[in-house]
Amino acid sequence: MNRHDAEQIAGALEGAGWSLAESEEEANSIILLTCCVRESAEQRLYGRLASLKSLKQARPVKIAVGGCLAQKVGERMLHEMPHVDLVFGTQQYPNIAVLLEAAENTQVCATNLEGLEFGAGTSFRREQFRAWITITHGCQNFCSYCIVPFVRGPEVSRTIEEVVDEVARHVSGGAREINLLGQNVNSYRLREDGETKFPRLLRILAERFPDTWVRFTTSHPRDLNQEIIGAIAESRTACEHIHLPLQAGSDRILAAMNRGYTAAEYVEKAQDLRRLVSDISLTTDLIVGFPGETEDDFAKTMEVVEACGFDSSFTFIYNSREGTAAARINNDIPGGVKQERLERLMQLTRKLTGVSLARELGREISVMVTGPSRKDPRRWSARSRNNRIVHFERQDADLTGRLAKVVITEAGSWSLKAELLEIID
Ligand code: SF4
Repeated sequence: MNRHDAEQIAGALEGAGWSLAESEEEANSIILLTCCVRESAEQRLYGRLASLKSLKQARPVKIAVGGCLAQKVGERMLHEMPHVDLVFGTQQYPNIAVLLEAAENTQVCATNLEGLEFGAGTSFRREQFRAWITITHGCQNFCSYCIVPFVRGPEVSRTIEEVVDEVARHVSGGAREINLLGQNVNSYRLREDGETKFPRLLRILAERFPDTWVRFTTSHPRDLNQEIIGAIAESRTACEHIHLPLQAGSDRILAAMNRGYTAAEYVEKAQDLRRLVSDISLTTDLIVGFPGETEDDFAKTMEVVEACGFDSSFTFIYNSREGTAAARINNDIPGGVKQERLERLMQLTRKLTGVSLARELGREISVMVTGPSRKDPRRWSARSRNNRIVHFERQDADLTGRLAKVVITEAGSWSLKAELLEIID
């Protein structure tokens, strides 16, 4: 999502005649796009801003801070960081060129959360072969630990026609993979139409763009229903991967988190996905140390994780976000206990990921090449339909964006190694 936000900002600037500088030294404006979901990202931003101070003293360069944290902190950032020229919020991306101009001689803060314009300035794409498309913006679930509803505003969905038109533009521009984005794609148009239109969208995309892979993130366990699972199963283009954040396995903690489902309901949906969508990989997010989490609650999380056999998991220690409901609960867990639980959980999730990757050994699968591997440029990096990272030996020809058939030869801790069999397309 953050990457796509950056594309929207770059697209809006490109449309106004700006171009991307090759380096920080050449730039006449530097834009930092922020996230405030985790405290660590917030701290990194302030460190980065401090280091830009000397650059600004050496030559006139405009410094702009946008995104979630900018939305949250607003004017305060301009007072605390006088070398920042512009602070702009999550719904101001289409206005970035005008805002930078307005910040020529004075500091500007633009954090209005109204008047969202979807699709404006989205022409810039870093990669030709895949595109990111926002289908819903914002969230009003108010999970008690989460800052997103406060900084992104209430959920708004685009129309099916708008989404399909944008997909058509990207496909005719060379995209072979479309990534549908939203805080909760499962409730797509729920607010506007009284029922989710996500299954319908998946079916339409499969019919109109039969050769285009469709990925989507994020799904919400409460809103994932049988119709959506059916549409994923039937659609030839929807990729067999779902990221379904569980967060905790204790019903007491899930209720305190305001997640809207029980552990049993989650497990049932996970089982339905595994039964109905062949080869689906199921990934998740997990929080340990939510205020008041007992050893018994944590044991339940471990049980549910084991029962679901997640193919991959992102694990986090709970950290309090100012302004959220959970930040007002006075029952913090000691740091050492949180850390120890995290380690036990990671041990389990690593084991499950290893088992899941080992199952792929010897299989012949289709992958889409995403580019040279960042760790080992002698290899190509690719993704399978079920979102496994697959590496194989690099050839001379540029295979970025190509579809290839490979055979899996080795399973690592996080990724797979393969041999190329043929380039499919
Ligand atoms: S669904 Fe919950 S966790 Fe996800 S963005 Fe909305 S409030 Fe945050």
